[in-house]
Amino acid sequence: LEQDLKQALENNEMEVWFQPIISSKTHCIHELEALARWRHPTKGIIFPDEFIPLAEESELIISLDRYILIHALNALKKLRPLISELKLSVNFSVKTLIQKDIVDFLDKIFLETDNPSSVLNIEITETGMTKNEKNLIQPMEYLTQKNIQFYLDDFGIGYSSLYRLHILPVHVLKLDRFFTSRTGNGYRNIVEAIIMIAKAMNKTIIAEGVENDHQYSELLNLGCEFMQGYYFARPMPFTDMLKLIKTNPRWIPLAANN
Ligand code: C2E
Ligand code: CA
Ligand code: CA
Repeated sequence: LEQDLKQALENNEMEVWFQPIISSKTHCIHELEALARWRHPTKGIIFPDEFIPLAEESELIISLDRYILIHALNALKKLRPLISELKLSVNFSVKTLIQKDIVDFLDKIFLETDNPSSVLNIEITETGMTKNEKNLIQPMEYLTQKNIQFYLDDFGIGYSSLYRLHILPVHVLKLDRFFTSRTGNGYRNIVEAIIMIAKAMNKTIIAEGVENDHQYSELLNLGCEFMQGYYFARPMPFTDMLKLIKTNPRWIPLAANN
């Protein structure tokens, strides 16, 4: 599979799909998360859970993250005229972020794709961070100066350290789907507490995996502005995202139709 994956990158079999992150205040798309999909010639679409862990074991993850970034920024360039201020979030392995040439690489890509560096948010998982905390501070601080923002992915289920939130330049916490799906199920107070911590530390919360009207209303009541999930839209290929943005740029809550 590893050899297959290498070839997939060379043969352009890897695709970027996009999922919108919605502002519950404006009901507009605030940003897009880029998610990798492998269009395998015989097996069809393969999802990241099947190849990211494998790629993480080698240096392949660096090539993959860079590939996705380049393709996503090229797509973003075409979408930005339709939604001004539209931003892009990409998932980076910590390995990708601590490469010595990361700053030069990003500078080059912004130039080549004709995007300002401020369009980019980089999502990193908590588990990745714990292993490389010290090596992360320098690239993160440097890239923050270039107006790139850092998102702490899957927040709440791993080693959610308040100390780490303090020493690393993290701007956004992505509340893990585990909590989103349990807001009405005894976990409401934890979600409320996480949102309060984020506010006190001047960080934004994005709730992941919002799937229904109930979860949406609960999160709204708890003061969570940004949300992402199947309730709004599933990840989709670029052409579908383009269509969605052109025909339906505002997302209307179900409750408003009742
Ligand atoms: P993630 O970053 O936490 O991404 C969110 C995952 O939740 C995505 O799975 C997305 O399709 C799924 N999702 C979104 N909304 C909902 C919902 O309402 N309900 C449910 N049940 N699921 C929802 P996906 O695309 O399969 O990606 C899985 C993971 O693979 C990602 O989790 C991310 O950690 C990793 N990944 C994806 N693309 C890349 C990449 O380019 N580079 C790296 N390093 N990791 C990537
Ligand atoms: Ca993510
Ligand atoms: Ca996540």
